Amino acid sequence: MEPAYFEAGEPCAVLTTQPLDRPLDYLAPEGGCWSGSYVEVPLGPRRVLGVVWGPAAGDYDRAKLRAVMRVLDVPPMRDELRDFIIKAADYTLTPLPAMLRLATRAPGLSDAPATRRIYRLGDGEPDRMTDARQRVLETMREYGGLAFTQRELAEMAGVTSSVIKGLVKQGALREEDAPKDLPFPHLDPNHKGKDLTEDQAAAAAHLAEGIASGTYGTTLLKGVTGSGKTEVYLEAVAACLKRGRQALVLLPEIALTSEFLTRLEARFGGRPAEWHSGVTMTERRRTWKMVAENGAQVVVGARSALFLPFRDLGLIVVDEEHDTSYKQEDGVLYNARDMAVLRASLCCARVVLASATPSLESWANAEAGKYDRLDLTSRFGEAVMPEMEAVDMRAETLAASTWISPTLRKAAQERIDRGEQALLFLNRRGYAPVTICRACGHQVACPHCDARMVEHRFLKRLMCHQCGETTPMPEECPSCHVPGKLAPVGPGVERLAEEATTLFPDARIAVLSSDLFGSARALKEEIKRIADGAADIIIGTQMVAKGHNFPNLTLVGVIDADLGLQGSDLRAAERTFQLMRQVAGRAGRSTKRGLALMQTFQPEHPVIRAILSGDEEGFWQAEAAERQAAGVPPYGRMAGVIVSSEELNDAFDLANQLTRQCEPLRSVGAQVFGPAPAPIARIRGRHRVRLLVKSPKGVALQKAIALWVRNVRVKNTTRLTIDIDPQTF
Ligand code: ADP
Ligand code: ZN
Repeated sequence: MEPAYFEAGEPCAVLTTQPLDRPLDYLAPEGGCWSGSYVEVPLGPRRVLGVVWGPAAGDYDRAKLRAVMRVLDVPPMRDELRDFIIKAADYTLTPLPAMLRLATRAPGLSDAPATRRIYRLGDGEPDRMTDARQRVLETMREYGGLAFTQRELAEMAGVTSSVIKGLVKQGALREEDAPKDLPFPHLDPNHKGKDLTEDQAAAAAHLAEGIASGTYGTTLLKGVTGSGKTEVYLEAVAACLKRGRQALVLLPEIALTSEFLTRLEARFGGRPAEWHSGVTMTERRRTWKMVAENGAQVVVGARSALFLPFRDLGLIVVDEEHDTSYKQEDGVLYNARDMAVLRASLCCARVVLASATPSLESWANAEAGKYDRLDLTSRFGEAVMPEMEAVDMRAETLAASTWISPTLRKAAQERIDRGEQALLFLNRRGYAPVTICRACGHQVACPHCDARMVEHRFLKRLMCHQCGETTPMPEECPSCHVPGKLAPVGPGVERLAEEATTLFPDARIAVLSSDLFGSARALKEEIKRIADGAADIIIGTQMVAKGHNFPNLTLVGVIDADLGLQGSDLRAAERTFQLMRQVAGRAGRSTKRGLALMQTFQPEHPVIRAILSGDEEGFWQAEAAERQAAGVPPYGRMAGVIVSSEELNDAFDLANQLTRQCEPLRSVGAQVFGPAPAPIARIRGRHRVRLLVKSPKGVALQKAIALWVRNVRVKNTTRLTIDIDPQTF
């Protein structure tokens, strides 16, 4: 469809990123604009960014309309991205402006020069000197040889653009093209492919076929860690490049991208574009523009890269698709994995969901035939999956406040003696999860959240892992004020490192925990040092489970395999299963057979048994049956409604009001549960109460929820957030 053109002075509707409930009408500027044009418009006393959304609503009063101030020098938004924004907003029940904001997040997008022309001092003299002309020339001299855009110059000198044009005509100013943003290096799909194994080649060929079809489709690419999933999807990227289309690779961890970019560079002979919070403003602006102009063939990024203005997106890879960080939990609540599928379906692109331990959602979609599924069953080269064994903690003798069993200790010592590495895994940051007063029994809690304060001994502070609040380690109990009685209870990685230092006095010990590194870069360097052999024992939290490659690592010891099985979260089993398989997968990545030891007090627990036996299909079948019986995702639909307020009563009042008026939900067969404290019951001083909505599949749940919440009155101190497909239920 040809985008609509609006002639100068013609009314058009502009959607801004401001929290308004609909697009506003403006008059098209001099030179006109297109539907999709990125524009600046006046709003009250401000100028704000917007996108021309279509014809003006019928009821405008022409005399009252203000004009679009300028059209930005970037390609207009394509219909495909616009559709995506609309559908994503509908799905997540997010106001359109908030969704648009995700797509205009290139800082400085609004500062892009209106024209790509710049001005310098010329040799000519103006025939007639006016005050305005004088000011322009003085400004220019003041700044020496610098060049300015017309707008900058006009603003600095306080003149109109016609003054500048006059000076150009007389040769006192020189007009030239602004240097262009440079495109990213050309990526060559044939640069340096690897020889694929038979399995890998078959999988790559299947993906390439999909890309050649030019239609939408999603493939679940499942394969144990080290089986070559990355190699395979890089071939899909190559196939996409060969067709001249763009590719997006989403990764869950910023820390990973650098290692990964180097790998892509080796494959394609050039570095792709990056998009995540660690990228500088200038670079973001350039990336945003180059993505729109096809000067960036491949983007590697975090979930927000889904909202980039691709000119012709042919492939989205979601690596580690099961990773919970794909769900944005702040601001606009969306799941990047699901939105990737939505976006691809709107632009005839393919999606590859890669994982060693897929989410139950994706597994079920493959079972149901909605997704293709490809399996890579063996590790590349000599590497094999590690042996998995339980260490039955009921049979081990441990001194008080120690967590490394004699069995694990012996196995680790053997590795160290052979010059290999061992990983001790504990998913708990800090020194100890609980700090208790031995005089009165008080547990130190965060003043703002429903969470304990965690001791961080390296930092000599207590820290709340929910809101980040920290305080110096108190000398005395905050409750009974007896000094010197605060004691740590339970292990965090720092405390585990202390124990390991005692047990293995000659070993070099490294702790990998996100809070111990000031920057992603420092973390990356440490990971590289460790991979190069700088440590014998690695002690790590969840972050080591994700994709880092330690070739000399042959033993993984899981300190507390039961940790994730507590609590009532229905997804706990799935999470534990995934995490344990991922962690175990760290062992024996090259030619040495690895061993994973899981310390557990319940070796007969079905989840622990499934982890040990590696019977994944069996595990998924059992999980699926349970979810089906409970009618929860992926076999039913769920949504969370979180009401938050500084006053707990206000939060409950609104939640109760919602429960009473749930007719719109009942009419579509949905049920409401709660209110109950939300999984994070208090954060940054706000109490959070949650209602859970459950419905059969195939009902228009969003519509019903929208009707439902429209009928309640929300105080302005109370906030209501809707979370479609919540992570915990
Ligand atoms: P995964 O993504 O499944 O964890 P990778 O693609 O990272 O696996 O592969 C694991 C390791 O094996 C990497 O170092 C990779 O370069 C190597 N590898 C995998 N397949 C091949 C191949 N066909 N030829 C050479 N090296 C390979
Ligand atoms: Zn807190």
